[in-house]
Amino acid sequence: MANIVKCQCGTSIDISGIQARKDGIKVWCRVCGTVTVHHR
Ligand SMILES: [Zn+2]
Repeated sequence: MANIVKCQCGTSIDISGIQARKDGIKVWCRVCGTVTVHHR
């Protein structure tokens, strides 16, 4: 299972070290500053 998500700006973000929550995983892109929520 891949722990890489892609931001809308095209940056690949490693989420393997981020704790999953039942309402999704909040991922912050350090390149463009956008926060996206990913659901498994
Ligand atoms: Zn981004």
